[in-house]
Amino acid sequence: MISLEDAMKEWEPVIGLECHIELTSLDSKMFCSCKNEHGDAPNTNVCPVCLGMPGALPSPNKEAIKDIVLTGLATNCDIEKHTMFYRKGYMYPDMAKNFQITQGPKAFCMRGHLDLTIDAPAANERVDIPEAQGKDGSYTTHIGIHLIHLEEDAAKMVHVGGREGRIEGATHSIIDYNRAGTPLMELVTEPEMHTPEEARRFMEKLREIVLALGISDCSMENGSMRADGNVSLRRRGTEKLGTKTELKNINSFKNLHDGLAFEIRRQAEILNEGATVLQETRHYDPSTKHTIPMRTKETAADYRMFPDPDLAPFDLSDEFIDEVRAMLPELPDQKAERYQKDWGLSSYDARNLVKDPTITAFFEACMKQKDAQKLVKPLANLLINDVAQLGNEVEDFTLGEGPLTPERAVSLVGMVDAQDISTKQMYEVLKFIVDEDKDPATIVKEHGMKQVSDTSALGAVVDKVIADNPDKVAAYKGGKTGLLGFFMGQCMKALKGQGNPRALNELLRQKLQ
Ligand code: ADP
Ligand code: MG
Ligand code: ZN
Repeated sequence: MISLEDAMKEWEPVIGLECHIELTSLDSKMFCSCKNEHGDAPNTNVCPVCLGMPGALPSPNKEAIKDIVLTGLATNCDIEKHTMFYRKGYMYPDMAKNFQITQGPKAFCMRGHLDLTIDAPAANERVDIPEAQGKDGSYTTHIGIHLIHLEEDAAKMVHVGGREGRIEGATHSIIDYNRAGTPLMELVTEPEMHTPEEARRFMEKLREIVLALGISDCSMENGSMRADGNVSLRRRGTEKLGTKTELKNINSFKNLHDGLAFEIRRQAEILNEGATVLQETRHYDPSTKHTIPMRTKETAADYRMFPDPDLAPFDLSDEFIDEVRAMLPELPDQKAERYQKDWGLSSYDARNLVKDPTITAFFEACMKQKDAQKLVKPLANLLINDVAQLGNEVEDFTLGEGPLTPERAVSLVGMVDAQDISTKQMYEVLKFIVDEDKDPATIVKEHGMKQVSDTSALGAVVDKVIADNPDKVAAYKGGKTGLLGFFMGQCMKALKGQGNPRALNELLRQKLQ
């Protein structure tokens, strides 16, 4: 199959996303007072309204409207004051009413955008780099948001008798209506992304914003955040959009990226042969890394949309919108800007620190500690690199809970700064903190990890290593300066890894001259 790199040489991908976000922090469903909790025993959070009984009347959840207006304001949308709910014809058993209540062409939030910063693009993801390109090879790009609307979610269907719960080959399906009628936001972007990485970054950034707003847990694993990826190709340098395919219900950032990358290669092969791409909905299977057709797409006419006569049109007041605006927290971009301005962090560090509210809160707690100001860069490194690695290695590790406190984090990087321990030892101490629930100073003492910086102690080791390796010394003096690494290694071995690398390096250079 053609490589992504080759596919993207001639063809420019055009990507648009539809992102669904469940408003998990709300207590009740969208149009009834049932509990908004679909993990409970099946079919326990149901009532005549969400089961679509004749005569039952919906009543909109005001908190959900606050949440979507909040999201619209946070994503630079215009808030539409006059909108209404529509009925979308829907002949699947997961909506008992046979229609879904959603919004029409006009949504609560319209014409927004997000600006994305993409780290130096991978070599195989060719981009015709837009305007602003940073020193580090990163670039920023502006992605339009078509709309964000509010709707009710469908029930959960479980297919029985087929392979892995899939519908193909199933003998019957069982339905849990707990999720039916729960509040769901859908955000639709303009077709303005051009690499799988841009699409991934858009989703990540949207998640960062929604987490900061505190309106959803945005769990890709549990499906409270999911995306459909639409992609088409056009010959580079041309304007007209090609025929798109849609990857449905993608449930991880990686799958979104990889699914789109596969689709781009598949479509490029079709187009290179002079054939045409079929407009269809496809399923991405991460185990084979392939997409397979699901169904050809319904057309808008199949939905027979019309205003829901049971729900009055909205007339949002300026006071209501201002009240919601006043609830806006500091958003990730604003935070990142503040970190750069106040603490001199790089754009990369700042961006990574604001990715996750847990990391952000921990970092800010650290910065309130005495002496943290001068340790800001190593603290950022600790949180971005070491703590992330710890999260992968140690089961049940949650930042902000348990033994790793902000005090201990600051004191840990402080010990590296004072050259009491090396950067390498820092990670070991970090693990001991989590294991033993002790202060870093105590751990270093109890495990005898203190770094040897004393010049006379180090000098003795250096002298011995030099004396033991006369041939290597001669080679070094003859110009093989790469041997410095060998000498460092020998000294470190003799010092059981506890030598201060900076001091050792300096001593070695001196004594080898
Ligand atoms: P549909 O009616 O098929 O759902 P929409 O016009 O509502 O299509 O668009 C759905 C998503 O697909 C949007 O995010 C939009 O930006 C994107 N999109 C539309 N046309 C294309 C295209 N030709 N190529 C790629 N993405 C597209
Ligand atoms: Mg669609
Ligand atoms: Zn209900």
